[in-house]
Amino acid sequence: NRHSGELIAKVKWDGAGLVPAIVQDAQSKEVLMMAYMNEESLRLSIESGVTWFWSRSRSELWNKGATSGNTQRIVSMAYDCDGDTLLVKVEQKGAACHTGRYSCFFNPIGVSGAAADASGAAPDRFGTLGRLEGVIAQRYAERPEGSYTTYLFEKGVDKILKKVGEEASEVIIAAKNKDNDELRSEASDLIFHLMVLLRERGLPLDDVIREIDGRHGKPTTNKMR
Ligand code: AMP
Ligand code: ZN
Ligand code: ZN
Ligand code: ZN
Repeated sequence: NRHSGELIAKVKWDGAGLVPAIVQDAQSKEVLMMAYMNEESLRLSIESGVTWFWSRSRSELWNKGATSGNTQRIVSMAYDCDGDTLLVKVEQKGAACHTGRYSCFFNPIGVSGAAADASGAAPDRFGTLGRLEGVIAQRYAERPEGSYTTYLFEKGVDKILKKVGEEASEVIIAAKNKDNDELRSEASDLIFHLMVLLRERGLPLDDVIREIDGRHGKPTTNKMR
């Protein structure tokens, strides 16, 4: 239609007729993925209200979620100042990444002098647990010597899994005591090791909170403060 025709003229298509489209969770604002659109996929996205891209590897139009079921309902779309990038805000069903992660951006890059939460953790949303997630992400990225968390990551996922199992058993044993001193300590150990496991697997705390909220049919807002 005429409306999408005018828009298509405003987009600065690259030499291959593509434009990068950043996909963002409309609610949490998390950046989910980046993919390319051509004219046809932009038109299809506008007309259908779900995301369509151009797959460069398969050279075909790609309706996100057509095979995985992880569809994206478009909430809004915009192009940037110079028209060379699109932003698509969506309601994401399931995981955006084909690896099963909620967001594609689960590979942290160690940056010297970076703030502790620079790797995507949300310390303010989740208070203490968010800050812990930031510290663990920093250890994961920079591997400082002498850190127990570095040691766990260096040993690998099997070691982390073993620790989660051990700490869970220690919680059970501690819970048999009359006072809660040991339980408090072992519960802390379990939560810490569980969060190391989440980092190792690239699963953000945000996704876990979202899952918990979803089970109770409530929106994901600051419940963990
Ligand atoms: P889907 O669109 O989720 O049904 O996935 C179909 C195929 O599209 C996958 O097998 C991947 O090759 C590709 N794909 C899906 N999601 C992504 C993504 N976030 N980034 C890159 N490729 C993707
Ligand atoms: Zn731009
Ligand atoms: Zn991905
Ligand atoms: Zn313990």
